[in-house]
Amino acid sequence: MEEPTFDLRRLILELFPGTPPELWPLGELHYFRDAERRVWIEEEPLRLVMEPIEEGGGRAPAVCELCHRHLSRSAVEFVRYQVGERHFRYLCICKETQECARYALPHRLREVLLRSIISS
Ligand SMILES: [Zn+2]
Repeated sequence: MEEPTFDLRRLILELFPGTPPELWPLGELHYFRDAERRVWIEEEPLRLVMEPIEEGGGRAPAVCELCHRHLSRSAVEFVRYQVGERHFRYLCICKETQECARYALPHRLREVLLRSIISS
């Protein structure tokens, strides 16, 4: 059985397709990492795929931008997605995506997802 809010969301998307995404009722969010270690945030029909980047490191503690927990530098990594033709936007997030997903608030995931759409 689905949450009623998802039905409302579907109804709004069908009846008012021009409604800007930020006004949609919050849908079912999926946040996961695939076999290639890319990070996905999905809220149908929106989708953001970010790729991990190699970087030198550093030792200072960091804050995950999705779950907002303070973590050791070795527990986080940078991921990026492309914005426009040649720009990238970077996020510092947990390496342990499943653990991160337990703490990440749906509204924060959506915020990141929408920012990627608005800016692309
Ligand atoms: Zn996190």
